[in-house]
Amino acid sequence: MPALDATGRYAPSPTGTLHLGNLRTALLAWLFARSQGAPFLVRIDDLDHGRVRPGIAEQQLADLAALGLGWDGPVVRQSERMEAYVEAIARLDAGGALYPCFCTRAEIRQAASAPHGALPEGSYPGTCRELTRAERAAREASGRPPALRLRAGAASVAFTDRLLGRCAGVVDDLVVRRNDGVPAYNLAVVVDDTAAGVGEVVRGADLAETTPRQLHVAACLGVPAPRYAHVPLVLGEDGARLAKRHGAVTLADRVAAGQSPAEVRALLARSVGLAAARETPTLDELLERFDPSALPTEATVLTSWT
Ligand code: GLU
Repeated sequence: MPALDATGRYAPSPTGTLHLGNLRTALLAWLFARSQGAPFLVRIDDLDHGRVRPGIAEQQLADLAALGLGWDGPVVRQSERMEAYVEAIARLDAGGALYPCFCTRAEIRQAASAPHGALPEGSYPGTCRELTRAERAAREASGRPPALRLRAGAASVAFTDRLLGRCAGVVDDLVVRRNDGVPAYNLAVVVDDTAAGVGEVVRGADLAETTPRQLHVAACLGVPAPRYAHVPLVLGEDGARLAKRHGAVTLADRVAAGQSPAEVRALLARSVGLAAARETPTLDELLERFDPSALPTEATVLTSWT
């Protein structure tokens, strides 16, 4: 398998307008890729139909474009890639790596609250892993469609993040297909990043905890693992994740208040040490200055931005 290059991507879920934290992640993903002369791709993670809001994906793309964050090739939409997920799930299943899980959320919550060896709290404890044929038949007869889980054997998976350094996690039997038939995030991301040749995943630090699972999925599928850079989140003044109630948190809010997209980009750049006060650098200037090793690793509080 050839080594992956530094092809990067930004993959928003079209569930809400991008806020300054999301936009900063997109800017950093763009800078990581472009500073290495690599392609930058955009994917819309719209598999979760219940959460997708109409028109939001288009607005997200317009925001990226307004900030000058151009991408290569067509935008990929997960909702159009079902065949690839079905094929990957079939491949895992053919190798005997999957089993049906009939547990309800409440059952999992209850069972997961007891300690289960090396697994972190809240992990799936493996209730359906060793069902006898009769037990499985009884659950099937209940009519509740099963999810499909990957036997992970509490694998310990470590990786070196470009920002966070050494990270590790113990992987539980994760869902690869939800019980409503929708491929799970941890499966779809790996299938998509592999298909697109993404070699460097730059995303918010809140997703670092999903990485051991995704690396495990990649290993089970026999595909190469990308490198990772989990960039710090932006928090509101109260220390909570950025949200509408924190004020002017979207590009549209800022533009309505009289800032230009270039000024908003400067604000994002300033918050990671890439621009001086009252300076509006061009993207080329930002590319010249960009040094991953100098990026902050701690979350930024919005009010500290001047
Ligand atoms: N679509 C995911 C999100 O918006 C991010 C996927 C990823 O970057 O791996 O949270």
